[in-house]
Amino acid sequence: MLIIKNLKVNYGYVNALKGVDIDIKGGQIVSILGSNGAGKTSLLKAVSGLVEDKSGTILFDGQDITNMSTEKIVSLGISHCPEGRRIFPQLTVEENLKIGAYVLRNKKVNLQEEFERVYAFFPKLKERRRQVAGTLSGGEQQMLAIGRALMSKPKLLMLDEPSLGLAPIIVNEIFKIIKQINSEGVTVLLIEQNANGALKISDYSYVLELGQVVSEGDSKKLLNDEGIRKSYLGA
Ligand code: ATP
Repeated sequence: MLIIKNLKVNYGYVNALKGVDIDIKGGQIVSILGSNGAGKTSLLKAVSGLVEDKSGTILFDGQDITNMSTEKIVSLGISHCPEGRRIFPQLTVEENLKIGAYVLRNKKVNLQEEFERVYAFFPKLKERRRQVAGTLSGGEQQMLAIGRALMSKPKLLMLDEPSLGLAPIIVNEIFKIIKQINSEGVTVLLIEQNANGALKISDYSYVLELGQVVSEGDSKKLLNDEGIRKSYLGA
C-alpha cells in the first residue's frame, strides 16, 4: 500500500533520513521504533508532504505521491495524527473533529454520520462533544487527535507517538483502540518510543537509528530478539 524507496530528508546540514526503504502492506499495523532523533517524525512528515528538502520515492496504492501537496495526499487517503496532538484547545470536541473532515468538503458526506463513526471508537468523546478541547484530560486529547485524523476517512492512518506522556492504563486503552481501528480495515503506521507496546500490537516493525533502518521484521520475532530486547525493551 505504501512503498518508500531511498528516502532522504535534510534540514540544512542535518541529514535526518539517509536513504530509508519501507514497505507497508494493506491491512497491517506497522510500527517504527527508535530513540529520540532517529528520524521517525521526519519520516511521517515526508510522507505527508510536510518537509521541504527530501529525495527518493513514495508510492501510495501505486501512485507516486512524493511531490504532491499535503491536501492532495490527505484526500487520497493518508491521515497524519501528529506528535503532541495539536488539537485546538479553544474549540469544542466536535469542532475539532469537523476540521478533520475539511478535505471531504466537496464530497457529499453526512457530517453527523462521520461523527458517529468516530464516536463508536471513542464513546468518551461523544459524552464530551460540546466541551472545549483544552479542558480534556491528556488521554482524551489523544483520543480526539486520533478521532480527528479518522474524520478524513483514511485508508492509512499514521500516528506519531500516541502514547507519549500518558499513564500506562490509558496507553493500554489507546493501543486497544488502534487495534480496533485496524480491524475495521484501516492500515496503521505507528511511530512509538514505547517499543514493548508497539511490538505487541503491530504485525511488522522497523527500527530506525540516526536516519537509517538498522533492523526490521515480524513484530513477534523482534519482541524475542536479544539485541532489540537489550536496546529497546530494557531487558
Ligand atoms: P523524537 O522522537 O525526538 O521526535 P524522531 O525520531 O522523531 O525523534 P526527528 O524529529 O525526525 O526524530 O528528527 C531527526 C533529526 O532531525 C534530529 O537530529 C533533529 O534534531 C533533526 N530535525 C528535526 N526537525 C528539524 C528541523 N525543523 N530543523 C532542523 N533539524 C531538525
